[in-house]
Order: sequence, then C-alpha cells, then structure tokens
Amino acid sequence: MGIKVSKFGGSSLADAAQFQKVKQILLSDGDRRIVVPSAPGKRSAADTKVTDLLYECNRLAGQGKDITPAFEKIRERYHGIAQELGLSVDLDAHLDEVKKNICLGAGADYAASRGEYLNGILLADYLGWDFIDAKDGIFFDEEGHLDSDKTNSVLGALLRGHEYAVVPGFYGCDSHGNVKTFSRGGSDISGAIVARAIDADVYENWTDVSGCLMADPRIVRNPVPIRYVTYRELRELSYMGASVLHEDAIFPVRIAGIPTNIRNTNKPEEPGTIIGYEAEDHESKYMITGIAGHKDFAIIAVEKAMMNAELGFGRRVLQALEEEGVSFEHMPSGIDTMSVVVHESAIEGKKERLIQRIHELCSPDSVEIHSGLALIATVGRGMVRSKGTSARLFNALMKAGINVRLIDQGSSELNIIVGVDNLDFENAVRAIYRAFVINETENRW
Ligand code: ADP
Ligand code: ASP
Ligand code: MG
Repeated sequence: MGIKVSKFGGSSLADAAQFQKVKQILLSDGDRRIVVPSAPGKRSAADTKVTDLLYECNRLAGQGKDITPAFEKIRERYHGIAQELGLSVDLDAHLDEVKKNICLGAGADYAASRGEYLNGILLADYLGWDFIDAKDGIFFDEEGHLDSDKTNSVLGALLRGHEYAVVPGFYGCDSHGNVKTFSRGGSDISGAIVARAIDADVYENWTDVSGCLMADPRIVRNPVPIRYVTYRELRELSYMGASVLHEDAIFPVRIAGIPTNIRNTNKPEEPGTIIGYEAEDHESKYMITGIAGHKDFAIIAVEKAMMNAELGFGRRVLQALEEEGVSFEHMPSGIDTMSVVVHESAIEGKKERLIQRIHELCSPDSVEIHSGLALIATVGRGMVRSKGTSARLFNALMKAGINVRLIDQGSSELNIIVGVDNLDFENAVRAIYRAFVINETENRW
C-alpha cells in the first residue's frame, strides 16, 4: 500500500460542507492516510480567515484590551462546524485554554497557530483518525530555520506509529520549546515536510482551483490549468507570485523526489497539476508553462564609465545594500550600468542613506532609484528550444502599448523577466497570456 499526504487549504475546510467533501476525498483512496489541515478560511469574499481573527485577538491582548468580542467570532466558526457535523469533542475546553493563553501573552505565533491546531482536533474527531501535534514533530533551530534533520527523524518515527493521522499545518516548535509558525500560507510547507518525513509517494495539495494555472485567475479569466510542471519551473513561478503554493513548500519534496499534485477540493474529478522532477515525458502544447509576477519593486540604477574594468565594483554596490539589511531580487546589468532590483518595501526610509553610501563606496557617475516597477516572469522549460519566444513576448507588449523598463533573461534559460510600470501590470500579463496561450490555441484549431 502506498502513502499519500493530503494537505487541505483554508477554503477547503471553511465550513461543515467543506469538511464533508474533504472526508469523501480522503475515504475514496486508502493511500490517503495522513492529512494536514489549514485553519478555516474565507467562506465568501467578504469573510475573515480564522488566522486573521487570531492575529487580531493577539493584537488586542497586547494592548491590554478585552478580546472577548473578537474571540467569540472564532468560537462561533468552530462551533458551527462541530454542530453541523454532530461532533462530540469538548471544543470549549480547548477554546477557553487558547483564549486564556492569548490573554496571558503567549504571543502572535502561538495565537495564529491555534487556527490549524483547533481545526486539526475537529478533523481528527470527524474522521476518527489520530491527532499528532505538529509541535512534537516539526522543529526550528536557534536561527529560526527549519531543523530538517531533527524534524525528519522525530516526525518520521512519530508518523510511523499511526496508521491514519491528522497533523495540523503552519507551525512547529522553536529551540526553546515554544510554538513557532511559518510565514503566511505556511501549511503548504508543513504538508511537504510531513510528506518527506513519511517518504510519501505523492504530496497532494488540495485547494480551491484546479491546479496551478497558466496565469493568476484574478488577472486572466479562466486561465488554462498546467497539467505538468517541473519543480524548477514552479519555483520560478511561485517566487514570482503564483501564490497557489508557498514557495518554500517546494524544497522538502523536491529533495526527496516526491511529486506534488495540486487538486481542487470542489472538483475532485479533475486531475490538477503534477509537479515533478523530470520533464522529458511531458510535452506541452504551449511554448511556455506559465506567467507570474507582482508589483512594487524599485530599480537602483548605478552608472559609471569603465565600470567593467574596475575590480570589486559590483561587490561594493552590494555591500551598501548589505549594510542597510536589504536583499536584492535581480541584477540585470549593462557594460557601464548596473541595475539592482529590490522590493520597494525593503528600501522604505533608507533611500537617501543607500544613495549616499553607494557614492562613498563606489564613486559612480550617477545613482538613481526608480520606483513603481512590476516584474513579470514568463516561465517555461520549452522556451530554450523554441525559436522566437522573446520576439513573441515583446511584440505582444508593444502591441498592447506597454513600455518595457527592464529585461532580465535568467541564466537558467527557464524564464524571461520584464519590468513594467505598476499601472501596466495587469494589461501586460493579459497581453503575454493572449500571445502564448489564446493565440496558440487559435492557431492550432
Ligand atoms: P489555500 O487556502 O488552499 O492554501 P491559497 O489561497 O493559498 O489557497 O491559493 C490558491 C489561490 O491562489 C487561488 O484561489 C488563486 O486565487 C491564487 N493563485 C494565484 N496565482 C495562481 C496560479 N497561477 N494558479 C492557481 N492559483 C493561483
Ligand atoms: N492559516 C495560515 C494562513 O492563513 C496558514 C495557511 O493557510 O497555510 O496564513
Ligand atoms: Mg495557501
């Protein structure tokens, strides 16, 4: 018998009806023996995620305010699910304990993690499966990074002791024994860690879309789902903004050679996206695999005649950034120019100092910071082999009247990144999608 680790996102577990779908999915395949739930997410666009309500309770507690009205909303969410499903678990005992600890100052990580913890308790009761607290199996080191070795051995042993188990997502245990969460959306990471620890055959990631789509569905209407994508391609797409899977969820399963399958809880009959290692056997009818991007980057443009002949110039520019604690995203460069792309938020309040420091360290002819840049990555393992990819891309942007402010073709040859004005972002994504997906389909049929 194989093992599938199934992670369900917040919208997949937002209410009792969603819990019923999850149970059906789990019971329909005997290999699905370990489930990693998120906290209840939004039931509608106007709804609030339980995780956000918990952060709010923690904020109020920190200000010495009464958290009762905010906490009652959380209580209602869980009671609604438990009552409709006829569960007998003593929810109030758990909820009262969580409320007490938040008021005593247990902190933001503890508070936020309880969304997954409580949902895990409900789901375990509903399924009749064992509950494993993630705090007993997922560990962070002193620097706050995942301690992979310890996690693998302890969690692996723990999981092997249970035939069917629920492991809540999003948190683990820090080096002092306290609860620590991953960054937002981190249940995806927990699922990948659990899959690796038990050496699963597949890591299933169940969400509210039918896989990773060729573009963000909030920008392009009904984008085509990607049937197969390599981990390297997905890393580029998720790093650049394809938020369907947390970018850090890729590493544990990639190292272990475990494929990930992104599926839709509301349409379980659809195959979703497979993310795997090798691509040879998976031809796509499109020249590209997907498009992703986001707004709010800035370019630090440094110019100096004969820069290329000056030893250590680039290092000194980056030293200025390092001194200010700014990490950079890209560095497309010319002969006498160097452009460093950073997140706008990373240089907030530091621009003057950065410019001054680059002057001191590098004596450039000029340093300028240009804001309001959006980056868009067009990604595809097939791009290297196809002629005319760049021509098609730039033609599409030109026809849409979009000015390209930056071009960066990564050395991986997996992607072409363009920078456009924030205001042009959505139109640029649509123009690229039209050129590579819609026109491609029209040409063929
Ligand atoms: P979950 O709560 O299940 O973890 P998320 O909200 O984190 O789900 O991720 C799913 C969402 O990601 C989709 O509803 C969609 O709006 C968004 N998304 C952004 N880019 C893409 C993409 N390229 N493919 C699929 N979904 C995407
Ligand atoms: N519940 C957490 C969040 O909202 C983690 C997750 O959903 O993956 O960020
Ligand atoms: Mg998510």
